[in-house]
Amino acid sequence: MEQTLSIIKPDAVQKNVIGEIISRFEQNGLRIAAMKRIQLSKREAEGFYYVHKDRPFFDSLTTFMTEGPIVVMVLEGEDAIAKNRAIMGATNPENAEPGTIRKDFAESIERNAVHGSDSAESAAFEILFFFAGMEIR
Ligand code: GDP
Repeated sequence: MEQTLSIIKPDAVQKNVIGEIISRFEQNGLRIAAMKRIQLSKREAEGFYYVHKDRPFFDSLTTFMTEGPIVVMVLEGEDAIAKNRAIMGATNPENAEPGTIRKDFAESIERNAVHGSDSAESAAFEILFFFAGMEIR
């Protein structure tokens, strides 16, 4: 069993599609092992996206991530990291496959509805960033 971190980003929370997005995970065999709805500060968003600190979109991305509440989850299942990435679709919704979350709910390459860890290393960092061990069951 593998675990990965998922975030429903502020654009999707504002659209009131939390339930529809969570359904996609459950329908594809992923289990929610932890979940909370929070709002990030700018400093917290910068810490979470530290690997992107030198990218030109870093300031815009971290401001977007603070504009409203987000839902953070630990998803668990066989091959959870790759499975979640497939359910999400490509970063740019214009390139996302039909039936993916980003194809159906994203507005742009930045306001793209969901985040998902892209490797075992980032999953470990990102899960610890948001959750204490006793919150994951
Ligand atoms: P992901 O793993 O598919 O989320 O994509 P990345 O790790 O490459 O980028 C992290 C996040 O930064 C994306 O989900 C987008 O919200 C945002 N992002 C990525 N590329 C761009 C870009 O070219 N412009 C802007 N404004 N935001 C971007």
